[in-house]
Amino acid sequence: MSSTITLEKIVALCKRRGFVFSSAEIYSGINGVYDFGPLGAQMKRLLKTAWLKHMQSFSEDVLEMDGALLGPAATWKASGHLDNFSDPMIDCTSCKKRFRADDGSVDPQKPCPSCGNKAWTDVRRFNLMFETNLGALVDADAKAYLRPETAQSIFINFKNILSSCRVKVPFGIAQIGKAFRNEITPRQFVFRVREFEQMEMEFFCKPEQSDEYFTIWLDRQKSFYLSLGFAPESFRFRPHDADELAHYSKNCTDVEFHFPMGWKELEGIAHRGAFDLTQHSQHSGKDLSVFEQENNRSYMPHVVECSVGVDRLFLAVLCNAYYEDIVEGEARVLLKLPMSLAPIQVAVLSLVKKLNDATHPVVALLKAAGLRVQFDDSGSIGKRYRRYDEIGTPYCVTVDFNTLEDKCVTIRNRDTLEQTRVPLTEIVRVLTA
Ligand code: ATP
Repeated sequence: MSSTITLEKIVALCKRRGFVFSSAEIYSGINGVYDFGPLGAQMKRLLKTAWLKHMQSFSEDVLEMDGALLGPAATWKASGHLDNFSDPMIDCTSCKKRFRADDGSVDPQKPCPSCGNKAWTDVRRFNLMFETNLGALVDADAKAYLRPETAQSIFINFKNILSSCRVKVPFGIAQIGKAFRNEITPRQFVFRVREFEQMEMEFFCKPEQSDEYFTIWLDRQKSFYLSLGFAPESFRFRPHDADELAHYSKNCTDVEFHFPMGWKELEGIAHRGAFDLTQHSQHSGKDLSVFEQENNRSYMPHVVECSVGVDRLFLAVLCNAYYEDIVEGEARVLLKLPMSLAPIQVAVLSLVKKLNDATHPVVALLKAAGLRVQFDDSGSIGKRYRRYDEIGTPYCVTVDFNTLEDKCVTIRNRDTLEQTRVPLTEIVRVLTA
């Protein structure tokens, strides 16, 4: 990440190049909700694939599931979300603006930062869940909630999966999917939004294994971020102080990333003990404990949770990759995305439109090799290079008039700017090396 990076620059690049748009922009937008354009959607998919692959790369089984977005009140009562999933808020009675009361954005002793008057309400709790009614009836039984996290559908399906999928404790269940939180003050682009995606993995183990697995998953998550190309100094692990821990949690460590707005939580890794399964057992009346034949005992598995937001990770990857430099006297913006996360890995350029017919077979060759390729014949070569630098494309392959004779193309490297002449028969090998 370059030192000159600001969130504004990332937001502008995302819009300019089709990574992220404000949702419903043509109707003036909707606060805290974003749409991902083609490049953003592709990059998010690559991140999700990388995460799941990482989760499933260890000797223990980690199964994937895809739970419903709507949940009954009973689920959220048992999980504690109905009673406790709230943030303190304070309203200005003069301008009607609402603020979070715990993040330093306002000081009740001082005037409202928006209108300058001092007319605060008391601090009140505001539940972050989106509530709705199922069907036409509006009564307590019809009440449902959009899930504020994916984890609970994992807990309530624990027994279903254990009994249907031939797995044994210790094992994990991973889920990637949408979550919704009615954040009081969504901000900082896709860092804090009202609709987002989470990647959560709940690892179920015997109580006596849980401390060890907590440490193991800390290590595994560190290697995940390094594998995404994160500079070691760009992220850190911050263990929670005892007074920060939820009452049931034995241990929790945040993975923090150095965003342009400072060090912020990217992922939470938590030792949740037997809290969730115990709660759901008690509230549902269904026994979620496990019987261990060897020792003739029943026990409630303990859980180590790894929970990261896709949108936050997406932002972190962009920040990590963002650089500015000067090339031949001209300012250049580039994303140094690794090949594995680049939405477009190779741009294939025809020097002039006349060469398009000779260029299409090169596109086909690279696509057949499984590369993410874009053909481009518009604008000067220099302008095209800049466009692909800005969206993180590691290589540009140019077809010129000599290609017709020597069957070679020029491969240009985004980071070193090196240009190499390579025979067509060799380009797949060179680009995938
Ligand atoms: P924060 O303190 O930043 O609100 P949290 O501690 O409430 O986060 P968790 O409930 O632990 O977050 O959720 C796990 C992960 O989900 C977070 O580390 C983050 O990456 C992501 N996440 C949570 N809330 C949001 C949000 N409103 N927008 C985007 N991502 C989110």
